[in-house]
Amino acid sequence: MLTGCHVAFIGGDARQIEVIKKCSELDATILLIGFNRLESQYPGATKVNPSPEIFEEVDALILPVVGTQDDGIVESIFSDQIIILKDEWLEALPDHCVIYTGMSTPYLEQLASKYNLKLVQLLERDDVAIYNSIPTVEGALMMAIQNTDITLHGSHCVVLGLGRVGMTLARTLHAIGAKVFVGARKKEHLARIYEMSLTPFHLQEIKQYVQHCDILFNTIPSKVVPAEVIVHLPSHALIIDLASNPGGVDFRFAEKRGIKALLAPGLPGIVAPKTAGRILANVVTQLLIEERQARGENDGFKR
Ligand code: NAP
Repeated sequence: MLTGCHVAFIGGDARQIEVIKKCSELDATILLIGFNRLESQYPGATKVNPSPEIFEEVDALILPVVGTQDDGIVESIFSDQIIILKDEWLEALPDHCVIYTGMSTPYLEQLASKYNLKLVQLLERDDVAIYNSIPTVEGALMMAIQNTDITLHGSHCVVLGLGRVGMTLARTLHAIGAKVFVGARKKEHLARIYEMSLTPFHLQEIKQYVQHCDILFNTIPSKVVPAEVIVHLPSHALIIDLASNPGGVDFRFAEKRGIKALLAPGLPGIVAPKTAGRILANVVTQLLIEERQARGENDGFKR
């Protein structure tokens, strides 16, 4: 339980609602900043106007998945006002307060370090990334289906990278009957791809492996699909780049060659915000409980 735990939420999207709900179910005391248009009510949650005083008892500050913008703006789909994460709010936080964000930004890192506050980047955690790979892959399949006139079953798919997203994607494509070729650079990844009954290739050999490709999925956040690779793709091929912005594809050259190439960021929040929110809610609340235990606080139950 989170009885007696003070959690402040600043901004967010539909995913944040799942985190608020879960904190409310666990009996936390919740402050909502940037939620003036939110109609639903949750036990223990109060909408507040931010001022330094309200942060004085906060044990955890929860920011949106994207954190803040470079100028400190915190996006909120539930507010018609611009919210900027202010220096004096963080200054007022108790020393033990932990800041949770999906990803960090220089603005956030600088503020957290200025006030010596622990900053947790949820999307960097292996467990979150693996759970998130499920809606990401469903979104990638949706895009592939919408942008081709062939079935994925029987199609020739190339997946670049065998990280958290690449592995889920390669396995899912194989399960629905695609012919899956996976490019990686580490020997242990090539061995794992073979073990999964897929066709491995070293990234240095990419040109020969894309020649018969119907759909190329990139998960590597580095320029692994330059013009020299794109010239070897068949003209009907579709490229779906899942890697974080700016992706790993030369989009300008793909367009010039008439090859459809799509950069597809943020799929979990788009295709399955509820699931993506629940993934964050489960992890955040577990971390909040662990933080309390580490501080020697009880969970509100008398024993
Ligand atoms: P990950 O587990 O770190 O996997 C990244 C893969 O890329 C690894 O196989 C890594 O191989 C490889 N790699 C990295 N740099 C490389 C380079 N310079 N050359 C060759 N291989 C390289 O990451 P992930 O969780 O799978 O996420 C992959 C990307 O998708 C990230 O950019 C992430 O932000 C993004 N993402 C997008 C969505 C979406 O909705 N589109 C959702 C989740 C994640 P090594 O081990 O050899 O380095």
